[in-house]
Amino acid sequence: MKNNIPNNLKDILNRIAIACKNANRDPEAVKLLMATKTVSAENIKIAFESNQTLIGENKIQEIKEKYDSLKSVKHEKHFIGHLQTNKVKELLRYDVDCIQSLDRLRLAEKLQNRLEYEDKTIDAYLQFNTSYEDSKFGMKPENALTFALAVQKLDRINIKGLMTIGLFSAEDDKVRKCFKLLKNIQKELLENGIPAHELSMGMSGDLEIAIEEGATIIRVGTAIFGKREHPDSYYWNEGL
Ligand SMILES: *Cc1c(COP(=O)(O)O)cnc(C)c1O
Repeated sequence: MKNNIPNNLKDILNRIAIACKNANRDPEAVKLLMATKTVSAENIKIAFESNQTLIGENKIQEIKEKYDSLKSVKHEKHFIGHLQTNKVKELLRYDVDCIQSLDRLRLAEKLQNRLEYEDKTIDAYLQFNTSYEDSKFGMKPENALTFALAVQKLDRINIKGLMTIGLFSAEDDKVRKCFKLLKNIQKELLENGIPAHELSMGMSGDLEIAIEEGATIIRVGTAIFGKREHPDSYYWNEGL
C-alpha cells in the first residue's frame, strides 16, 4: 500500500483539478490536508516527499508518538479530532498550528486560559454539526453567531475558518445540503466581522461536492493512505 502513496496523491490532485474546473474555481484556492490518523510516521514522510506537508491528526496520543520522527521535515499540523477539555494543556505541547474542531465555548475558554498562561496564540476553525447526527460533534448551526462572537472575544484564539463533516450518504443532495449550510454560516459570520475565511469540508468520498460548494481545505485520508483498521466512529465518538 505504501508505494501507492505518491500515485494516490497524484490522483487526488487530479480530482481537485477536475472539480475546480467544473466549479469554475482556481485549484490554488483549495488546499489538501492529509488526514493521517493511524498512518505511520514513515508513510507520512513518503507523502511529505511528494510536497504535501499539511496534515491533520485526531488523537493527541498519535501526535505524540509521531512527533519526533516528523520533526525533521517542515510541515503544518492541524488537530481535527474531538478535543477533551482536560487535554488542552497536553495538545499545546506538540506545535499544533490550528485546531479545526473547536465546537464549544467551554473548550474555547479552557484554551484561552492555557494560551494566556503560556503566552501563545493559536488558529482555530469552528466546527459545526451540519448533518444534525447525534454521532457527530460540532456546534449547532442555529447557535453559530452567538458562539462565534463569544469565541472572538477570546484574544488568544484566532478564528480562521469553519469545519464540518458532511453526512455519509450515497445521496449527493443530502451531502451537499451540509456543505451549503456551512457556507451559509460562513456568510453570516463574515457579515458580522468574524474572519472565518477558510471552509474545511469534504473528504475522500465527497470532496468534489465540497469543492463545488466552496471548500478551501479538503481533508483526505483513505484515498491517500488506504483503508483504516478501525471504523471512523472510533475517532468521532470518543467520550460519548
Ligand atoms: C478521518 C477524517 C477525515 C478523512 O476521511 P477519509 O474518508 O479517510 O478521507 C476527514 N476529516 C476528519 C475529521 C477525519 O477524522
